[in-house]
Amino acid sequence: MRICVISYHSSPLEPAGSGTSGGMNIFITNLYKKLARSCKIDIYVYGKKSCVLLGPNIEVIHLNHQSLDNFADAIINYHIDRQYNIIHTHYWLSGMVGLLMKKMVKIPWLHSFHTVEMFKGAATNRLRIEIEKEIIKSCDFIISPTYHEALVIKELFPKSQVITIPHGVDTRRFTPGSDGDKNLLYVGRIDPIKGLDILVDALRLLKCDVKLNIIGGPSKGRENYEKIKSYAKGLRVNFIGRVSHNQLSEHYQKSSMVIIPSYYESFGLVGLETMASAKPVIGFDDTGLSETVGKDAGILVKRNTRNLANAIVHLINNQVLRHNLGKVGRKKALYYDWHNIASSYFLTYEKIIKK
Ligand code: UDP
Repeated sequence: MRICVISYHSSPLEPAGSGTSGGMNIFITNLYKKLARSCKIDIYVYGKKSCVLLGPNIEVIHLNHQSLDNFADAIINYHIDRQYNIIHTHYWLSGMVGLLMKKMVKIPWLHSFHTVEMFKGAATNRLRIEIEKEIIKSCDFIISPTYHEALVIKELFPKSQVITIPHGVDTRRFTPGSDGDKNLLYVGRIDPIKGLDILVDALRLLKCDVKLNIIGGPSKGRENYEKIKSYAKGLRVNFIGRVSHNQLSEHYQKSSMVIIPSYYESFGLVGLETMASAKPVIGFDDTGLSETVGKDAGILVKRNTRNLANAIVHLINNQVLRHNLGKVGRKKALYYDWHNIASSYFLTYEKIIKK
């Protein structure tokens, strides 16, 4: 099976945790490295480098065409030579490339949004919303990481074909550690949508002494990063900056719980990494975390600062509960190991190609 993967705006070679590189990069790297054991994978990204081998059977092909039309044409030329069986586009910008290729390339086209602008609540990018609608109507299949998101897409676009496959986690990289006592942890890009302001507000409500480590680099520019830093002044908050994905595990292991205060989270890979590390997750119940963390691997509350603060205090004061939630989390995370998730993708691709 020969798979054409398109990730226009973000390369799996970029280290995750700042700028535009986050969960999607971790997803693409892990999924396709696993699939490369039985398929040939080409990942197209915008950039100046030429071709870089990610491993056997898996190549990152940089195309230096900023114009999406030219970018799409270049992939079509590769297709003439390489004869792909399936195209999988990631994120709305690559979905636009898929739209441009559709008339010329008659093989199945799958699309993963990773974030859906129209579901973000305070959506501002009207053009992006219109393009997302066009992608849903034009592609052959949408792959959604949660049943909830799949259902909402189906309700809005009854003719769309949506397949749910959750994201995965490397359960050998992320493993249990000791109890982290009063060390709270946040992991993710420092972006307004990640809700660090709510977390800081919640910390101000706490009467107990806790320390929050924040891992991740600026996403929407340095100014926003400095803004949240000054908002947290006077609290025991330690901005560590971006940490290489290889070194993240020890930070999860040393924490007592991980807080994911996002305003919007389509899936939340950090939740799975926390579970694999046998630590409880705290977050909001209106995010993708509901389907992975659920009610037994952490505490997901109704969106409000006081509820978030209460959940933190509850877990700080209850080591046994922390331990039990972590234990269930680890057990559940094993199901999401990339090995299983890549198998689901392989079977899905195979079924679609044979149709
Ligand atoms: N991450 C990392 N180093 C950092 C911060 C984050 O490797 O300093 C990784 C983190 O482990 C996770 C991803 O970036 O795999 C963030 O994924 P998530 O889905 O939570 O957020 P997104 O960036 O997709 O919004």
